[in-house]
Amino acid sequence: MSAVLPKSAKVVVIGGGVAGCSVAYHLAKYGWKDTVLLERDQLTSGTTWHAAGLVGQLGASSTITRLRKYSLNLYKELEKKTGLSTGLKQNGAITVASTPERLQELLRQATAAQLFDVNVESVNKQRIKELYPVINDDDILGGVYMPEDGQADPIGVTNVLAKAAKMEGAQIFEKTPVEKILVKDKKIVGVQTKFGKIDCEYVVIATGMWSRQIGEDIGVSIPLYPNEHFYIITEPLDKLPKNLPVLRDYNSCLYLKEDAGKMLVGIFEPNAKPAFKDKGVVPQDFSFGEFPDDFDHFEPYLEKSFQRLPMLETAGIRKFFSGPESFTPDTQYLLGETPEVNNLFTCCGFNSIGIASSGGAGRVTAEWMINGYMNEDLFSLDIKRFQKFHSSKKFIMERVTETLGDLYGMHWPYKQHNTSRNQRLLPYHEELKKEGACFGVSGEYERPMWYAKNNEKAEYKYSFDYQNWYPSVEFETKNTITNVGLYELSPFSKYEIKGEEAHSELQRICTANIKDEIGRSTYTQMLNEAGGIETDLTVICIDKNHFRIISSAATRTHDKAHILKHLSPNLEFKDITDDLVCLGIFGPKSRNLISKISNDDFSNETFKFGYGKLVTLVQKKFGPKDYLMWVN
Ligand SMILES: Cc1cc2nc3c(=O)[nH]c(=O)nc-3n(C[C@H](O)[C@H](O)[C@H](O)COP(=O)(O)OP(=O)(O)OC[C@H]3O[C@@H](n4cnc5c(N)ncnc54)[C@H](O)[C@@H]3O)c2cc1C
Repeated sequence: MSAVLPKSAKVVVIGGGVAGCSVAYHLAKYGWKDTVLLERDQLTSGTTWHAAGLVGQLGASSTITRLRKYSLNLYKELEKKTGLSTGLKQNGAITVASTPERLQELLRQATAAQLFDVNVESVNKQRIKELYPVINDDDILGGVYMPEDGQADPIGVTNVLAKAAKMEGAQIFEKTPVEKILVKDKKIVGVQTKFGKIDCEYVVIATGMWSRQIGEDIGVSIPLYPNEHFYIITEPLDKLPKNLPVLRDYNSCLYLKEDAGKMLVGIFEPNAKPAFKDKGVVPQDFSFGEFPDDFDHFEPYLEKSFQRLPMLETAGIRKFFSGPESFTPDTQYLLGETPEVNNLFTCCGFNSIGIASSGGAGRVTAEWMINGYMNEDLFSLDIKRFQKFHSSKKFIMERVTETLGDLYGMHWPYKQHNTSRNQRLLPYHEELKKEGACFGVSGEYERPMWYAKNNEKAEYKYSFDYQNWYPSVEFETKNTITNVGLYELSPFSKYEIKGEEAHSELQRICTANIKDEIGRSTYTQMLNEAGGIETDLTVICIDKNHFRIISSAATRTHDKAHILKHLSPNLEFKDITDDLVCLGIFGPKSRNLISKISNDDFSNETFKFGYGKLVTLVQKKFGPKDYLMWVN
């Protein structure tokens, strides 16, 4: 480092990969000029330098597609602004399908992409052959073509973003590792580097595969871990047409990129290999690094590439490459403010689409920081969708073996992961299993999603069409509407708030008029400053100055962080989610059922809608016990 570090800054962005440079550029562009980016070694020295450089727009979700489309346009725009090249070539991209389900998935994604003005065509076999004459199309059913997709040089993209950031007023320091993020009273106060301290208001962790460790150091959970990610580059091929589009063959787990007469063949295999497995730690000095060959691992996919592109069979391999890339528990990025520390943001976990995504991810990160809330629907990317256990080494190292393959896997509705399951079981898990429960994960818990009927196997048969569990749900629904149904709701998030100002504080942060009468419940929302919905919840007055909040299972971390950020610190707040079991008894005969196991009065007149009370249920096994019951 030659220039002198500033003593203070508004924001310190840690990490000079493609993501960090994009955040710094957008912050400075939107007016937060006092932004400093600190890079441990050289720009791109982590993962960015060795990316294959595919800049595709079509993502598995519309949120990702939107950010990727923005990235492509930004890289083109910044080339003009900076006078530097990103090496962008827009030869287009084709994704082919060799099963009917895959074709259905591609067409669904293409329809969603068209909503965001991505130029995408559905293509038949004949058109695919015209666009990609050297393909073996024997088993191909069709595909989609994005004429404006491209490939870029990842180092070029990063340099363009870095130069644009500097032109907007941000400062960038290389060879400046951050040794510690400084936190006081759960808020960012600065960073400690080898060359001194920088006081700052905000920190962005854009440190790629190091992020989990950096977070752990200050008690922040960042659930990602690197896998080894493989590609080969062939020797030059005489008969390879120039300017071929990028080819993706999800069914064969392959992508193929023509590069100056050679072919790059990369894979997204379902049995990924976690990197640095022995210690489970990314070394601090890993720069421009790569791993030794693992031909046995790559070979089955090389075979598949020969089937798709027969001319590869006789090609020599010039380079076998394996480098680390971070994967997250659900193959979606990690953006937004951390729940543990205020003003600490993450922009990492790119699951091998970081070059294609960073333009957009940097923009939304900057907007989120400046506004204090997300500008668009980014819930699926918010780091607060996870809980603490997701970043434990055991959980994440097992899960990423599956999530690398998920990138090219089928994105089925209701899909459940196979790895890192059974983190938390309900007390009556085995009983539910005997009743035919098919389990899925919600929050931390294994939850019964539906019950198999007629001794059928309790497992999802994934489909975009009629679901195999519809008959079970139809039975449950009809029975509940006409009779009574018992629903397991324990993973719902539950918080208790106590204190003299409990009611007035809830009135301040909720949209509805919160009932301050013992036994009454209020359904309400909490909004951000722009009027966007942050949480959807029920508030129950348990006692004087004592309220209970119930919100959905999947939003536990997010809702808790929102409430704690806005609630007066004078109040007592407790997360009691794991302390209480919660069952719903629904249907016209629910009062009859409950009356059979309790001597309390459950008549409509004395136990009205929206009211609750403590009741005593008599169980044969344990005798009488008190339960809080609500009619909602
Ligand atoms: C083989 C391979 C092929 C790929 N192909 C593609 C592709 O075709 N298209 C695509 O979109 N993506 C691709 N990717 C993924 C892409 O490369 C990554 O998603 C992206 O580079 C991640 O960027 P990043 O900025 O998050 O991380 P990085 O590039 O790793 O940047 C993080 C930076 O943080 C720095 N850092 C760490 N700790 C500290 C500290 N304490 N203080 C200061 N600095 C620190 C590191 O030195 C590093 O430079 C590929 C990845 C691999 C491995």
